[in-house]
Amino acid sequence: MAQIRIESLRKEFGAFTAVQSSSFTIEDGEFFMLLGPSGCGKTTTLRMMAGLELPTAGEVFIDGDAVGQKPASQRDIAFVFQMFALYPHMNVRRNISYPLLSQGMARPQVRAKVGEVAEILGITDILDRPVGGLSGGDRQRVALGRAIVREPRAFFMDEPLGALDAEFREHMAEELRALHDRMGATTVYVTHDQLEAMQMGDKIVVMNHGVVEQFGVPQDIYDWPATMFVASFIGSPPMNFLRFDGMVGAGTDQVSLGEATIPVPTQRDGAHGKLALGVRPEHIRLLDDAPYRGEVVAAEYLGTTQIITLNTPHGEVKARIPSDRKVQIGARTGLDFDARTLTLFECDKGRALL
Ligand code: ATP
Repeated sequence: MAQIRIESLRKEFGAFTAVQSSSFTIEDGEFFMLLGPSGCGKTTTLRMMAGLELPTAGEVFIDGDAVGQKPASQRDIAFVFQMFALYPHMNVRRNISYPLLSQGMARPQVRAKVGEVAEILGITDILDRPVGGLSGGDRQRVALGRAIVREPRAFFMDEPLGALDAEFREHMAEELRALHDRMGATTVYVTHDQLEAMQMGDKIVVMNHGVVEQFGVPQDIYDWPATMFVASFIGSPPMNFLRFDGMVGAGTDQVSLGEATIPVPTQRDGAHGKLALGVRPEHIRLLDDAPYRGEVVAAEYLGTTQIITLNTPHGEVKARIPSDRKVQIGARTGLDFDARTLTLFECDKGRALL
């Protein structure tokens, strides 16, 4: 088990900076997600933590030891790749035994250890089967078995479920999370899938263009996005932005959108210029007499809820409302916002006001 801390960690490839100076701490036993769009630098960050890439600057600490310049083999960690590499000519038992045998562990001990791991993963009955004929899921389990059998201090996983179809992916995600809960080993997991990150992670780092945008527990990141990027990357549909030019003073608890006055959480800091009021689709109610108004332009039925798209004076807005609420395309209606959930952003900086 391990606490992993990165401090001002940076990676340049020639003139290109893949990871800007980044700092955060992964506590012992956490299931920690590195989340962001393709090319944002999450894999590079993971590889620097694991010892597969040397940082240009900054440091990686595992349990307080500076390991940034040490190779992976000296970090006592296991790396699980997207395409699990198994030895196809060996059976399951040999595949899982391999890391222990190559460390020189005695055979009876290896047998016992592999038995334990197979039990945890529910693959005892396939131990003597060749890996070639196994289903995708069983191959994943075998590869995980090979990673966990060494009992490393931490696991590093780079989109381990990326190659699976959606349904199976969800199932394996649950298995992985359950496995983590049983073993409690620190796990760092790269994904570009915000739902996967929200469902599985104890904590999430959201990255964009090599920069850490936000770091925290999933609920806080969802409810209180620190940047407009995070607000639009997390959530489906994403947070709406009602854009306006104006001024918000310190201590303000309302903003004016045209004729309508919208209550907002009391602001600590003031700002002026191009601002945006951020509201999640599920925090909007359509009320006939609400003063802020829009025109319904589309409705998308999703079972228990529906997504209503409205044109408003400050931009298009999507509202998630119960599907039994009848809404006419072309109708004008009022939009009522849950004041406690609103976030104000400074558009030029892309940052939330506090
Ligand atoms: P993806 O999900 O697509 O892998 P990512 O967020 O994991 O994206 P990285 O793989 O960390 O992103 O890459 C970040 C940036 O660094 C990308 O623009 C990539 O092209 C670049 N990069 C990564 N490795 C190298 C390298 N060895 N040489 C040059 N550029 C690289």
